[in-house]
Amino acid sequence: MVTQSSLLSPPNPRSGRATTTIQTTPTEVLPQLIVQARQAGRALYDLSLAERSQRLLHLARLITERSAEGAALIHEETGRPSSMAALSELNNVMSFAKAAIQEAKIALRVTKAKLSPLDFPGKSALISQVPRGIIALIAPWNYPASNFYKSLFPALLSGNAVIMKPSELTPRTGAWLASLAQEVFGEDTVQCIQGGGEVGAALIASGVDAVVFTGSVSTGRKVAEACARQLIPCSLELGGKDAALVLNDASLDRTALGIAQWSMFNSGQDCSSIERIYVEEGIADQFIDHLVRVISQLTTDSGDVDGTEGEPLYDLGPLQSQAQLETVIRHVDEAVADGAVIRCGGHKTEIGYGFQPTVLDRCTDKMNVVTEETFGPVIAVIRVAHAEEGLQLINAAQYGLNASVWTQDVKRGAQLAQQFECGVALVNNHSFTGSLPQIPWTGVKNTGYGVASSRWAYSTFTRPQTVVIDKNKDPDPFWFPIDESYRQFVEAIALKNLGGGLGVVLRLLKLLKTRIKATKSLLNKS
Ligand code: NAD
Repeated sequence: MVTQSSLLSPPNPRSGRATTTIQTTPTEVLPQLIVQARQAGRALYDLSLAERSQRLLHLARLITERSAEGAALIHEETGRPSSMAALSELNNVMSFAKAAIQEAKIALRVTKAKLSPLDFPGKSALISQVPRGIIALIAPWNYPASNFYKSLFPALLSGNAVIMKPSELTPRTGAWLASLAQEVFGEDTVQCIQGGGEVGAALIASGVDAVVFTGSVSTGRKVAEACARQLIPCSLELGGKDAALVLNDASLDRTALGIAQWSMFNSGQDCSSIERIYVEEGIADQFIDHLVRVISQLTTDSGDVDGTEGEPLYDLGPLQSQAQLETVIRHVDEAVADGAVIRCGGHKTEIGYGFQPTVLDRCTDKMNVVTEETFGPVIAVIRVAHAEEGLQLINAAQYGLNASVWTQDVKRGAQLAQQFECGVALVNNHSFTGSLPQIPWTGVKNTGYGVASSRWAYSTFTRPQTVVIDKNKDPDPFWFPIDESYRQFVEAIALKNLGGGLGVVLRLLKLLKTRIKATKSLLNKS
């Protein structure tokens, strides 16, 4: 238990220096937060979906109007240019909310179960999706706003209260987002607590009803175990090692530009970054030349950390932390020692935790840079004799989030894409569906079993509740006593289920009457 509030002071990734602090939440306050959240959640569920949707649109408008403020915070906390932060995390929030509302209408639809009037006379059953109650959202630092609202929006639309815990490396962006949500939904409906793993663990054990966790595989395992102890569901969105398969007939220019985009975006700190590419031998030399030409022209932070000349623009910001930088350096150094060839980059930049955009050729599946998540601006190239070899190596990975195939033969591309073991398989693109609320974001293997976004995510936020209404004035045919008419009734039901014709139905109707009489006879005094 964290009984005393302490201070979080994450370093600015551009300078390595801590410039701000934020108070952690003492975990002893959690029971009170849970009481408040539970009450607030009930009040939210009392509103109609239309009213909750109106509030969500209000929140989305607020985020959009104040996106410059949010982008500046993301820039300070992560080091990426604020224009990129605005584009990737904030400016699309209005359309995200609108599409999320459409998905909610489908996911939260009340359905009627079909019940046979012969077996279950007079009965009807309505199944609603009711909120679980309180959802814990535990997030990483790589997209400190959008990692939240992917789950925050459906959680609120389904009528839950939410307790957010941002990463200890990006606490202020999470607090900012929570404060806007509180303006619209109320302080108790969306709460935000601060701290590291200990605070996250305490939140899971505090009485929340479900956990949405986005983060690393090793923490994800701990979260899954902790949720199992509480017997609460959890959604796990974990690491990735996305692959691209480049076929001999791929368009050299577009493929090089597309793969550069989706391997280097956010300096490769994206769960769906392309970290390994499998290139058919016939195109390998030419393609790698193209790719290197593009990637070596991407710019890194030039270092005006204090912003005296205004915020600089660059393609790649620094990595988030010293630990992240060390992983990247280790993967590159080990690969080079084992025979990989650096085609561009390969080293730390002068600024903060920056690392140069790097292409490593001649990699093999024995290298960590090919098998482990690197989470940096490094792409490992593996040359393959043919597509099938690439497919087999791609599917041998321990992760499975996105995978893409790049070819001008779209039909063949689609056939190959269907064989990828992953959540999102693409032809001639990668990763971009992560920001679309109508497409499920999910993975397999060590990437976890969570589904973020879309109607398919709602089982985390809701549970089905059935209301059964019985208008039958008589006792049911399968009530006591278990006598000869009961035996005949059971037999007749079996015959009906096997497709018995009119004769069986007429016999059942007769037996129904006999059964009612038999049951009512229990009321007679013996
Ligand atoms: P992390 O696992 O270190 O931390 C994630 C969050 O968990 C943080 O808020 C942290 O404080 C908290 N935490 C740590 N220990 C905990 C515990 N025992 N109980 C509860 N909470 C605990 O991950 P990170 O370094 O912040 O994020 C990077 C990882 O996130 C990468 O592996 C990346 O691939 C993954 N990620 C996945 C997706 C996806 O959609 N699959 C999206 C974004 C990031």
